[in-house]
Amino acid sequence: MNTSGTLDIEDFEKYLISAFDIINGYILNINNCPVIPPGSYDDLRKSIYSDLPLQGENIGTLIDDIVENIVPYSTKIGHPCFLSWIITSPSPAGTLGELINVGLNQVPALYKGGKAATVLEDVVVRWFCQLFGYDNESGGILVSGGTMANLTALAAAREAIYPGATTTGIQNIEKPFVIYVSDQGHISVDRSAGMLGIGADMVRKIPTDEKYRMKPELLEEEILNDRSSGFEPFCVVAQAGAVNTGSIDPIDKLAEICERENIWFHVDASYGGGAVLSKNRKVLLKGIEMADSIATDPHKWFFIPAEAGLTIVKDSKHLYNAFNCSASYLGDEDSVDYKDYGFQLTRASRALKIWFAFRAYGLKRIGEIIDRNLELASGLYNRLENEECWELVSPSELSIVCFRYIPETKLDENSLNSLQFEILAELEQSGEAFLTPAVLRGKACLRICIANHRTTQEDIDQLIDLIRLIGETLIHDR
Ligand SMILES: *Cc1c(COP(=O)(O)O)cnc(C)c1O
Repeated sequence: MNTSGTLDIEDFEKYLISAFDIINGYILNINNCPVIPPGSYDDLRKSIYSDLPLQGENIGTLIDDIVENIVPYSTKIGHPCFLSWIITSPSPAGTLGELINVGLNQVPALYKGGKAATVLEDVVVRWFCQLFGYDNESGGILVSGGTMANLTALAAAREAIYPGATTTGIQNIEKPFVIYVSDQGHISVDRSAGMLGIGADMVRKIPTDEKYRMKPELLEEEILNDRSSGFEPFCVVAQAGAVNTGSIDPIDKLAEICERENIWFHVDASYGGGAVLSKNRKVLLKGIEMADSIATDPHKWFFIPAEAGLTIVKDSKHLYNAFNCSASYLGDEDSVDYKDYGFQLTRASRALKIWFAFRAYGLKRIGEIIDRNLELASGLYNRLENEECWELVSPSELSIVCFRYIPETKLDENSLNSLQFEILAELEQSGEAFLTPAVLRGKACLRICIANHRTTQEDIDQLIDLIRLIGETLIHDR
């Protein structure tokens, strides 16, 4: 290849191999600690900072720089004890798919920007529609994550309930829209309401039962109240796997209410969607096929590398009506151009990595991993129930367990809460594991979210022993 006057690189292949070596080394060492690398923001700024690079540098030196200053300070999201938020360990087959995808650099906004990529996206969208029980009228689009998936679905809902909203706006509507979600709803619902001109204040938080599931009778009451006060009940968002506890709202009951009341029904299954592959827990999603739209995150419990979120709608025209657009500079359009189904124009292809990983492992095997995660969580729940020093704060429907360390010494509620945060900080400091908190009805909790294909029983056992030890030491040192 003649590289003069272009940005092509002479020894591209050599450096490609160096890049692969980095990835390979990183994944080979993924089980090593620390999970969260040391280093404050200021420290890293010092070692990573560089001046505006006017002159080019040697690529080999840059690769060394990455090995020295970037890789060791990368969070080990694939570590078996990375059990926080709901970011999962990506599957290596997903990584392979993504690597190839990056090289191909397809832009399936228009069919011609990525012909195979467009069809791959159709295939992947269809797979998910099938998994969730949607028929052939359905459709969808891959987006960056659950947040965008919820926003995309709610934009489709807004146009469906108030045709023309996308063109005329909703500044002059007589009856302000109201969205309903449980008090465990994800923050992306409020943010989407903000983005859509509905306003986060118009998101009603419906109280939950003892299992942190929306109470349908209170939803019905709220809808009646709002109607009689001149509001337009517009959309109900069910949580299928609430972020704190993994609770699943009574989807079938909520679907019936929405059907009767002519309200858009959206299910946020960003996390819990993975349960569709579980043998025993798929029933928890009963009724999800009745939803007008569903959000789920392939980059969560389907083990796909970030970013990969998905919106599917029961009737694909609703996405099209909300997003179709044209401009002379885009050229001739084809029958399927993904620009017409979502907000992004230039967009990465997210389908290849999903297509590749699903075919490489088969959904049966991924389902077995999900079932193992579920079993680890229920086993953990049982262990904690049988030991004195723990309080379980919520039931564990999916793979999240929320609990507190309770020392022998009696502590007041405030000290008990701060103790949990201290434990989390110590645990992170130890490098052995990373957890994030949940605060449930005023109680600060340790929260273990097992959505990880590498986590074993031994990992969980050792983690609980370590948490207990940290708790005891903290109390002893007070
Ligand atoms: C993670 C999550 C989201 C947000 O998804 P991102 O991929 O982080 O944007 C929304 N809702 C629920 C229930 C989630 O678990």
